[in-house]
Amino acid sequence: MLKCDEVERMLSDYEDGALPFSKMVAIRFHLMMCRRCPALERSLRETIDVLRALRDEPINEGADPEGNKGE
Ligand SMILES: [Zn+2]
Repeated sequence: MLKCDEVERMLSDYEDGALPFSKMVAIRFHLMMCRRCPALERSLRETIDVLRALRDEPINEGADPEGNKGE
C-alpha cells in the first residue's frame, strides 16, 4: 500500500498516464481506499483540465468550460 505522500508526489504523472502500469494500479487502488487523496486528485485533474483547455483553445472553439457563451 502506497503512502499518501508517495501518491501525492506521483499524482501529476498518474494524471498524465506517465507511470508504469503497476504504479498506475497501485495509485488507483490507493485512491479508492483513501479519504484524503481523491480530493487532491480531483483538484489536480481540474487544474490540468483548465490548462489543457487553454492550450487546446483553438481546437475547442465551441466548448466553454464555464458554459458561458458570452453572446
Ligand atoms: Zn492517500
